[in-house]
Amino acid sequence: MADFSRQYNKIRAEIQVALEAVCSRQHFILGEEVARLEEQIAAHCRAAFAVGCASGTDALWLALQAAGIGPGDRVLTTPFSFFATISSILRCGAQPVLADIDPRTFNVSPYASRAALLREPVRAILAVHLYGQCADWDALRSLQQQHGCILIEDAAQAFGAAWRGVPAGSLGDSATFSFYPTKNLSAYGDAGMVTTLHRDMAERMRMLRSHGMRQRYVHEELGWNSRLDTLQAAILLVKLRYIDEWNRQRQQCAARYDALFRKYILAEAGPYPQHGVVTPSVDPRGTHVFHQYVIRVNRRDELRSFLNQCGIGSEVYYPAPLHMQPALRSLGYAAGSLPESERAAREVLALPIFPELTEEEQMRVVEAIAKFFN
Ligand SMILES: *Cc1c(COP(=O)(O)O)cnc(C)c1O
Repeated sequence: MADFSRQYNKIRAEIQVALEAVCSRQHFILGEEVARLEEQIAAHCRAAFAVGCASGTDALWLALQAAGIGPGDRVLTTPFSFFATISSILRCGAQPVLADIDPRTFNVSPYASRAALLREPVRAILAVHLYGQCADWDALRSLQQQHGCILIEDAAQAFGAAWRGVPAGSLGDSATFSFYPTKNLSAYGDAGMVTTLHRDMAERMRMLRSHGMRQRYVHEELGWNSRLDTLQAAILLVKLRYIDEWNRQRQQCAARYDALFRKYILAEAGPYPQHGVVTPSVDPRGTHVFHQYVIRVNRRDELRSFLNQCGIGSEVYYPAPLHMQPALRSLGYAAGSLPESERAAREVLALPIFPELTEEEQMRVVEAIAKFFN
């Protein structure tokens, strides 16, 4: 599915210099590199502020908590995401409201969102930029204006993505990133960040990530320990120099897959494949950074085990929509209530994509898929 050692082999020397600098200084928590990383990521995303933390999950919790979301509040989001998108809302004591996805982009549907907001008001919309593609920000912004809610981006999969040229990270009131080792910009362990346009939210998040302290041992509110390690920040500073190039390489890989699919398999237009394959659809208003290259297929599980037999990795993100997860049954969404998310969970298949993937390897993937259908 991915070979991360190819990337490490290229940057090994720079990483080792960066790690040595931190170890020599012996300042391991929220050190100088964390401050530099926060500055550089804010600049990269054109956000006013960035606050490092321990994971993308914590970033979500911090962003919601700093926005004052709590018991009695509702937050609109998508059921087709990683678990943390919804669990962070529940951790704040708020109630998730789920809107179905657009079957073309897998992001939250503007129509379903509008319908949900007409049924019940929400304090915030938490929109996920799934697979590296921004949610329809024109529609979400107009919903925000009509309904007066806060708009938060879960940009864990979308570092470097943009909407009408505006980077993910400065589209919403705040945005959350994960630097989990498989993400486009990744650490060598857990790490996360929140970007925001608002000084007061940034200050509150800095306090919340250190047990509600601004001044040593004065705890102004209940926070958490969610600090970013200096070593992880040092690694991320090295990788940040390459991220634009790596994202371009991912886009090239995606374009090569598109061309190979056109050549070897008749990709059907439209969201519902009867047979064959539907390749990713890219909203021309956005810039997709292909955290994943996800196709739709009818006989997904059969294809996946065939690829496996051929020695080709693939993954399913995600095999169940979140309202079908055992821990979230109590939200009360029945099977069939969010049909596009449920259909996507049955049909999606993520193919290998990473900057160092070669054309020959992609050729092998598509040939194997063609063989399966023939
Ligand atoms: C990875 C991911 C998260 C969680 O990030 P962690 O760093 O693993 O806590 C949240 N939301 C989405 C959409 C993700 O892909």
